[in-house]
Amino acid sequence: MHRDSPAPPERMARVRAMLHELDVDALLFLDMKNVRYLTGFTGSDGALVIGNKQEILLVDGRYTNQARKEVEGPRVFEYKDKEKIDGIAAILSDGSLRSVGFESQAMNVNTYLNLTEKLGGLKLNPMSDQIGALRAVKDEKEIAFIKKAAEISCEALTAVRDLIRPGVREKDIAIELDFLMRRRGAEQVSFPTIVASGANSAQPHAQPGSRAIENGDMVIVDCGAVYCGYHSDETCTFAVGYKDKKQEEAYSLVKTAHDRALEAVKAGIPCVEIDRIARECIETGKLGKYFTHGTGHGVGLDVHEAPRIASNSEMVLEAGMVLTVEPGVYIPDLWGVRIEDMILVKEEGCEVLTKVSKDFTVLH
Ligand code: ZN
Ligand code: ZN
Repeated sequence: MHRDSPAPPERMARVRAMLHELDVDALLFLDMKNVRYLTGFTGSDGALVIGNKQEILLVDGRYTNQARKEVEGPRVFEYKDKEKIDGIAAILSDGSLRSVGFESQAMNVNTYLNLTEKLGGLKLNPMSDQIGALRAVKDEKEIAFIKKAAEISCEALTAVRDLIRPGVREKDIAIELDFLMRRRGAEQVSFPTIVASGANSAQPHAQPGSRAIENGDMVIVDCGAVYCGYHSDETCTFAVGYKDKKQEEAYSLVKTAHDRALEAVKAGIPCVEIDRIARECIETGKLGKYFTHGTGHGVGLDVHEAPRIASNSEMVLEAGMVLTVEPGVYIPDLWGVRIEDMILVKEEGCEVLTKVSKDFTVLH
């Protein structure tokens, strides 16, 4: 297993440089993906404090040895089991800090109230977008892990295409897909695999069930693998049995939206622009009201992370970002189509990392 720890010290330096700009003396990280990104620590619980003068990784006794092995740089502080808040309060109350920023999406109200009470006069400042954007641009090692994750899920997806035929149940295809991804080296699946047939395909996030595939179905298969902590994400939609004109037209429209959005991707383009291009294309084909989600999302240590490719996104694409482009249309109670590729943004254009053909395909 190729560990990606310890994390490159450059990441920590970037956070230290943000302290002044965010007007805080230190940052408290509770999102374990951020903690992993910044330190290399792969445990499932803990906290990280980054200040001007020191970095401290807080863990409970289960993780002390692991943290010392995986992490270079930050001091490892062990708190007693179930006393995480006290541990954090002890570190933050050393007298040198006046204000501390935290990831607003990673702290629940209980923790916030508890910590505020224990910190006395020290001010806790919520941060959101600034922290989320930290991981958006990937380095070479991260890109290599994401490419490997994509290779694993592409191979598995290609292999299960032969299983998609009338009479086979959605969940049997999903189980096979998960098995093939794990056997090919995925440490886990990125998210619960979606195999949605017939009317189920009209629900963007349907759970695979006992429905058996029938002739005339559209079948949406959406899956991803995790490799060294990094995710992949890809969706194919197949027709089964025969070509239905309406389905083929909708597929061709979604494919055009997908292709145009991909063609527009390069460094310097605002995320909203990519979303607009895909959306306008589907609106031109009069199916706009059935395109009910954003056009894409960043992929990395989380399967959904910055940048979001949506109509209210404020980020601009940069070289090294990895994101999905996944327009779809969902005709209620009938069928749906989604076409999703994961791409690496380049200065000029992009590289498509997910390799399964997205041409309209009828399976028998
Ligand atoms: Zn997906
Ligand atoms: Zn996705």
